[in-house]
Amino acid sequence: MSGADDTNNRKLSVFPTFHKVEGRRVVVVGEGDEAAAKVRLLSETRARLVVIARAPEAPLVAAAEKAAARIVARAFSPDLIEGAALVFAASGEEDADTAVVAAARRLGIPANAVDRPDLCDFYVGALVNRAPVAIAITSTGVGPVLARHIRARIEALLPRETGDLARLAESFRDTVARVLRDGAARRRFWARFFSGAVAANLQAGRPGVARAQAQRLLNGEADEAGFVWLVGAGPGAEDLLTLRAQRLLQEADVIVHDALVPDAVVAMGRRDAERISVGKRKGAHSVAQDEINAILVREASAGRRVVRLKAGDPMVFGRAGEELAALRAAGISHDVVPGVTAALAAAASIRLPLTLRGVASSLVFATGHDRDGDTLPAWGELALTGATVAVYMGRSVAARVAGRLVEAGLSRETPVAIVENAARQGETVHAGTLRELAGLETRDDIAGPVLIVIGEVVSHADLSSARSIDVAPGARVRQVAAA
Ligand code: SAH
Repeated sequence: MSGADDTNNRKLSVFPTFHKVEGRRVVVVGEGDEAAAKVRLLSETRARLVVIARAPEAPLVAAAEKAAARIVARAFSPDLIEGAALVFAASGEEDADTAVVAAARRLGIPANAVDRPDLCDFYVGALVNRAPVAIAITSTGVGPVLARHIRARIEALLPRETGDLARLAESFRDTVARVLRDGAARRRFWARFFSGAVAANLQAGRPGVARAQAQRLLNGEADEAGFVWLVGAGPGAEDLLTLRAQRLLQEADVIVHDALVPDAVVAMGRRDAERISVGKRKGAHSVAQDEINAILVREASAGRRVVRLKAGDPMVFGRAGEELAALRAAGISHDVVPGVTAALAAAASIRLPLTLRGVASSLVFATGHDRDGDTLPAWGELALTGATVAVYMGRSVAARVAGRLVEAGLSRETPVAIVENAARQGETVHAGTLRELAGLETRDDIAGPVLIVIGEVVSHADLSSARSIDVAPGARVRQVAAA
């Protein structure tokens, strides 16, 4: 490609602008789906919507009603669009659209004809609405699907509350201009305003706190206000993160993560974010919980935005309680972002309905270990009442878990499934009965995190590719220790 061509390819054939329509008449001409789609899009604005449709079809009537648009049930004639701010020809017929565009041009009104770029005075972008913030994406007709893809990504990136943040900023603008005379100081203020605790609190649904933070920022009292998010990373697959988790990973200055969170997920954070691994993998070196709490408090107190990234859901066997207490005690703003917990990922992997009419009406998230790592908690009885039991951290205590359940009265033939590495690299499924569960402890080949599901409902799972829990099928079945 020649240099001149290259330069030309980088130039736009359009110039993006935002047309003022508030209180003005915007006219859509058409009767069917195309017109309905335009009405829906325009209903995002404060324009006075008018639809010209001699015989409006049902979808158009519905869209117009929802958008509070007035329908003029007449054939198109130029006098109907006089004084309009914009005109959309959406009849779906070339001749009719051409006539509408010609009439609009004679009246000096910019016109758009749906799917007829050659007739258009302007294009309509894919819209991201965070009023008063508006983003429109166009591929200038070359790749409408691409434009929609980009739009979806921007939607995911921009919190719902972006508009609220803009309005809050507006309410501070005059005061900021008065108080902070120095341009650099003003810029610093706004940078903090939009990326620190003010924005974070607003997004966490605490507008009062956000406003107070902004005020403190202005008074020079809150230069160092950080924020901590306890974020669920899900079971391990990158695409099982929530959109919110993904966005916060992009925003965080520091990511404090467990060993159980795969590198690929940690890598989704901002390139220049600091990453602190705090271990927490059975057997491997890990940082004590007190120390983790201290790290969170220290980093946030230094004004940094911290994502505390935990496997699965942060509130399920994640010691979130201690971290939240430490943050509360230190007066640090924080929020929690849920994630897909291991039990749900395991159930999905083996197509197991965790609750099933007539079979299982409750679900227990249980741990094989309690704080002392010794006594087993008394959830055994629950299994008897037909609950599905999902056991976390159960590998090294499988025999005692099984024993406890049998002791509680559960049949040794109760079906059991073991999902190792659910929804991540190296997933395996083993199946058997409660009688065989003890064998898990001796299975050196099952080295990843395992989730054990126990209950009648397991017989409804798809275990066609599951292997047996017993090391050597046919070998003498090890008796479950009845504690
Ligand atoms: N907060 C996490 C649980 C942390 S406790 C969650 O909500 O999932 C750690 C235990 O979780 C592991 O011992 C294992 O039992 C379970 N676990 C976590 N991720 C898992 C995965 N991908 N597959 C199977 N089990 C998993």
